[in-house]
Amino acid sequence: MKPLEQLTRPNIWRLSPYSSARNEYSGKVARVFLDANENPYNKPFNRYPDPLQEEVKKRLSKVKGIPAESIFLGNGSDEAIDLMYRCFCQPGIDNVVAMEPTYGMYKVCADINDVEYRPVLLDENYQITAEKLLNACDQNTKIIWICSPNNPTGNSIHRKEIEKVVEEFEGLVVIDEAYSDFSMQKPMRYEVAKHPNLIVFNTMSKAWGCAAIRLGMAFASKEIIQLFNKVKYPYNINQLTQEQAIELLDNPYDVEKWVGMLLLERKRLIEAFKMLPICEKVYPTDANFFLAKMTDAQTIYNYLVDKGIIVRNRTRVSLCLNCLRVTIGTKSENNELLAALRQY
Ligand SMILES: *Cc1c(COP(=O)(O)O)cnc(C)c1O
Repeated sequence: MKPLEQLTRPNIWRLSPYSSARNEYSGKVARVFLDANENPYNKPFNRYPDPLQEEVKKRLSKVKGIPAESIFLGNGSDEAIDLMYRCFCQPGIDNVVAMEPTYGMYKVCADINDVEYRPVLLDENYQITAEKLLNACDQNTKIIWICSPNNPTGNSIHRKEIEKVVEEFEGLVVIDEAYSDFSMQKPMRYEVAKHPNLIVFNTMSKAWGCAAIRLGMAFASKEIIQLFNKVKYPYNINQLTQEQAIELLDNPYDVEKWVGMLLLERKRLIEAFKMLPICEKVYPTDANFFLAKMTDAQTIYNYLVDKGIIVRNRTRVSLCLNCLRVTIGTKSENNELLAALRQY
């Protein structure tokens, strides 16, 4: 890996961050807070939330097996995606490499930040080799994006290839593991301590059932986490979100139960799809959704919308012609979908 200073935008490396009232006081037990121009009434929402979310991180650290100092919390993974560009990519100069197709936000954020985005097409099994990704890089490539299990294809990328990218690339490698709770493949987040160029994303939005609270996380070296903390908005995670996350992290058993039910339903729904005359193929999946090749995705999509059932039409995405992406719902939701498709 190149030195972190060389990978970081010079203005960000030099940046002295905003220092909030609650940042400056720390350690001592305080009783009277007259430092942050808050209103003393309307408790508990009158106070600013903890800017570094220490209670949340303490619990996450136990649940995820990652030291608290290696955890960044964002307003969804989307904040962490954007911070990768703002911290490391010089607009108009640097570039990033990503597999194609994949999660759309990597490209949207590249475009917003005026950073060149280099897509590398997956093969017919939706896999990619380390060699292909590395060949797309030049001396201005700062980031390689790998989403595994991948959205919208559903499959995990072979771990050997992921490891090879992390070991051989001189810049930063992000592995987005938003769906890793649904996968049997060993997550990469445990490798963060070994690889200073590795950043792994997780989210509360999928297996954890909390898309509404907007809580995404990045696991990385302490040095990278410190850069994120410098650039983020001071109070990026609001009090309600922190409280809900703490409650959920104190009861993570629900998550295992949900994942178990969703995996059973996934198996059942895929078997049923394979029997449909309008379904040509179901792709292998490690996520809480699957991609199905249909006879005519657009018409079937419109038909389902008319019945009040919404799936994701991916027919205009590369390598996904006539594909619908179907999220696993409850048993009765899945049955409604199947009943509608059988009547088509
Ligand atoms: C859904 C999803 C996320 C989650 O984004 P949040 O902003 O945390 O809700 C991240 N990455 C991928 C690939 C996803 O599909």
